[in-house]
Amino acid sequence: FAKKGLGQNFLVDIDVLRRIVTTAEITEDDSVVEIGPGIGALTEQLAKNASKVVAFEIDDNLLPVLYDTLHDYSNIKIINQDVLKANLPQVIDEEFGTNKSVKVVANLPYYITTPIIMDLLHNDDRIESIVVMMQKEVAERLTAKPSTKAYGSLSVIMQQQKNVDIAFLVSKDSFIPSPKVDSAIIKITTKEQTGSQPFDLKKFQGFVRGCFMHRRKSLYNNLQGIFGKTAEIKENIKEVTTEMGLSDNARPEELTVEEFVELCNRCNTKGLIA
Ligand code: SAM
Repeated sequence: FAKKGLGQNFLVDIDVLRRIVTTAEITEDDSVVEIGPGIGALTEQLAKNASKVVAFEIDDNLLPVLYDTLHDYSNIKIINQDVLKANLPQVIDEEFGTNKSVKVVANLPYYITTPIIMDLLHNDDRIESIVVMMQKEVAERLTAKPSTKAYGSLSVIMQQQKNVDIAFLVSKDSFIPSPKVDSAIIKITTKEQTGSQPFDLKKFQGFVRGCFMHRRKSLYNNLQGIFGKTAEIKENIKEVTTEMGLSDNARPEELTVEEFVELCNRCNTKGLIA
């Protein structure tokens, strides 16, 4: 009964379901938001351990099965809505109380995992942690360290804001139907911000994407791609990279997250960023 296009691969392995709950460190005081409960296998495990679970499910065809799985639990609220269209802070206020923060748990279709996580990062003050199943390859990109093949704009943007770790890998056999790709559970938690911060988060994210636009070119070339190639701009870029002690042929993947922040802030000070 899985609906095409909604990426419905249902988790059926009880050990994996329990490990997700353990990874999310759900206790009886916790408010939990689940995204995409499907037929409710994970929802049930969450409800057993949490104070209350609010679950967003977009597909109304699944609701009868979902209610049937969960009919023994009184601490679950199903919201039949696309989570990307929901006003999450408002839902949290209404369902859990103002000033409450929640733990988010999700096993989503893989094509919307990244947009949903990026969206959640913007509601960041109400979210304590996110535990999410994703394609192993994307999990590796999010957690990658500099000078590795997987390190790119996604790694920098995520790690600048959050602590992110792969908790464990999940075999294809844990799902019905089996997905084509390997999966991983990752955990995203609040990062204590020390060092300097981007002067503007949205602009920082655009800047980082620009720096990785052409992976095989040097950072210097990518910066010209972002800002332009006039003599004056080239001169300004040169000054910024020299100030940071970066060589002409430095590659974007060699820079740490902190170096990207510094580079972006320096480019802004030089008037390069509109
Ligand atoms: N969590 C269940 C499990 O582990 O068995 C179901 C996983 S299935 C991969 C993803 C679920 O997310 C489906 O039930 C799908 O209908 C739902 N879904 C997809 N897009 C959604 C969206 N934008 N908002 C809410 N739910 C969504």
